Amino acid sequence: MPKSNNKDSNDFKERVINLSALSKKELVQRAKKFSKQYCVGDGDGFKLKDYETKASFNLGDEGKPLVNQTLQIGVDALATMQDILYAQDKWSLLLVFQAMDAAGKDGAIKHVMSGVNPQGCQVSSFKAPSSEELDHDFLWRCQKHLPERGRIGIFNRSYYEEVLVVRVHEQILKNQKLPEKLITKDIWEERFQDIRNFEKYLNRNGTIVIKFFLNVSKKEQKERFIERVDDPDKNWKFSATDVKERGYWKDYMHAYEELIKNTSTKKSPWYVIPADNKSYARIAIASAIITALEEMDLEYPKVSAAKIAELNAVKQALLDEKD
Ligand code: ATP
Ligand code: MG
Repeated sequence: MPKSNNKDSNDFKERVINLSALSKKELVQRAKKFSKQYCVGDGDGFKLKDYETKASFNLGDEGKPLVNQTLQIGVDALATMQDILYAQDKWSLLLVFQAMDAAGKDGAIKHVMSGVNPQGCQVSSFKAPSSEELDHDFLWRCQKHLPERGRIGIFNRSYYEEVLVVRVHEQILKNQKLPEKLITKDIWEERFQDIRNFEKYLNRNGTIVIKFFLNVSKKEQKERFIERVDDPDKNWKFSATDVKERGYWKDYMHAYEELIKNTSTKKSPWYVIPADNKSYARIAIASAIITALEEMDLEYPKVSAAKIAELNAVKQALLDEKD
């Protein structure tokens, strides 16, 4: 483990202490500023190599409690905003998570969403499609799991697999039961177009879509795989297929670069999150979600004067009860 840099550590300590003293508004501003560096926005000219897999600082073990404290502040802010989203019942938020194996999707979802009301949040995981799913267009199975108004929907993998694993393994495309004449060299461009239109459609209906690519390095993935073999409690997470897919690393990175370039838009941006440090990645993700919620202009529904009068009358009646 590399040694932490004392100056970094002290600066960070100060920043965390300052964070807890901030108002909610100031905190949201910080989150916006922090997440911006990982937001791709309009994908034109996107290059994966411009984005780091490592966080820009290294605090070592000593920094861990501080990092956790920062995450907790973010999680609390997120929970407060979700409460308003739910009460307002107008907007919904779809969070898409994509990554190579062991990049930390599951852990990020678990930790970042730990404070939110489970009633207002749905997680859906997408694996290889069933035969029923293959009998439909590729968006069909995902559409069934879109979040209702006032809810946050989380896709653990998604329709983006259609331009990832399906692009990397030609045979999967061949098994999709598509009419042969529809499989041309333009198919990926056509799928990007379909996805862009789908997300635009959702946007126009009040569902904001933001997408996360957890950008882990090949070296870090190797270490995490070895840990999954060495630690009996992590054996269940590991499969030989994961190592096979690792062999296609370059093809996957090319597919990710292409899809981010073609589907990142100002309204439905991709965030390329440095994922070699799990805690840092979670803070960056929480900040991006806070940013998206802030842009919705959330507020608790206003109650009419007549309703307030009614509430006061009920309260008075309760106070007047004899026993
Ligand atoms: P874990 O962290 O538990 O490994 P996971 O998301 O990797 O989670 P797995 O069951 O290991 O879950 O893998 C799901 C697999 O399904 C992935 O290899 C993914 O590429 C594949 N998959 C998802 N969508 C499709 C699709 N549309 N077509 C083909 N394969 C798909
Ligand atoms: Mg897996």
